[in-house]
Amino acid sequence: MMEPTSRTELSALGEFGLIERLASRIQLSQPSSVKGIGDDAAVIDPQGLHQVVTTDMIVEGVHFDLGYMPLKHLGYKAIAVNLSDIYAMNATPRQVVVALALSNRFPVEAVDELYEGMLLACRNYGVDLVGGDTTSSRSGLVISVTAIGAAAKVDIVYRNGARDKDLLVVSGDLGGAFMGLQVLEREKAVFTGSGAQPDLDGHDYILERQLKPEPRRDIIELLKKMGVKPTSMIDVSDGLASEALHLARASGLGVRIYDDKLPIDPSTYSTARDFNLDPSTCALNGGEDYELLFTVAQSDFEKIKGNPSLSIIGHMMDAASGYHLVDKRGGLHELKAQGWDALLKR
Ligand code: ADP
Ligand code: MG
Repeated sequence: MMEPTSRTELSALGEFGLIERLASRIQLSQPSSVKGIGDDAAVIDPQGLHQVVTTDMIVEGVHFDLGYMPLKHLGYKAIAVNLSDIYAMNATPRQVVVALALSNRFPVEAVDELYEGMLLACRNYGVDLVGGDTTSSRSGLVISVTAIGAAAKVDIVYRNGARDKDLLVVSGDLGGAFMGLQVLEREKAVFTGSGAQPDLDGHDYILERQLKPEPRRDIIELLKKMGVKPTSMIDVSDGLASEALHLARASGLGVRIYDDKLPIDPSTYSTARDFNLDPSTCALNGGEDYELLFTVAQSDFEKIKGNPSLSIIGHMMDAASGYHLVDKRGGLHELKAQGWDALLKR
């Protein structure tokens, strides 16, 4: 962790002092935010829309390592991953609340950095931070973010809406965040070691994928502009294979993904090779890409085809056909939700 130049103990401010300090930096921008920080609860006006609510909790040592995750990035990512869940419902995020468990290991300056990242993400995506909770922790840092969004009832896209023969589409590219993490883990010894510079050169793209993921609001807007409403949708947090299985199972269908259609950035590809990992496996099971995976009716093919931000990677089938990856020679492999733990033990 970058040591801040000055250090103010949390105890010097106290819980209320800290909250006041945070609140003083926050301005509300959403008309739906009626009341933010400063009362017993925030007040939100749903403005006649359905509200969409999601929570993600991240725990130091389990989900992040402050050895290579700067606090500002951590704050940004904690917000970003929640907004990604709201976009995956085809909804617009409008508010977040943030609960923190802090140990006295963290000075006030560290909390400032964390909030700088969180408020930057909020600004970038037009979201208001309207409340939270602050408590103490005996050991690590715990951050729980709840995001609240809104959408017209007809616009909401669930996981269970896919139909037989729908096309399976993913935004952006896959496996980058996972390879970024591998580079960070490899250089971690150097970070914490004797002051030598870690070798992160040439890995900008995949490091950014890991440290500063951006939720795909642009894809939601693109689909709206193209007049395409997905039949089902999910964001890629645990890995493509796992998410594709979620869509298929929720919709009561089978699914087929084509290996040669997987979008993989050249830098992800070459880094995977350097690590002796199969790039396709990284794309399928890497996780944390925060891309959107969705199905569309075949009649939308012409609208989707050739768009550089979208890849048609497969299609849905009847449930009896099962869940498969089709390799470059046409061979079928059972699709499994391995997650990354299994990936590294191979
Ligand atoms: P209560 O005792 O009723 O839970 P708190 O003192 O925890 O009230 O919170 C006071 C106000 O500060 C509330 O509006 C709450 O939402 C806000 N708040 C508390 N902690 C945080 C935080 N970490 N980030 C943002 N807002 C916070
Ligand atoms: Mg409280």
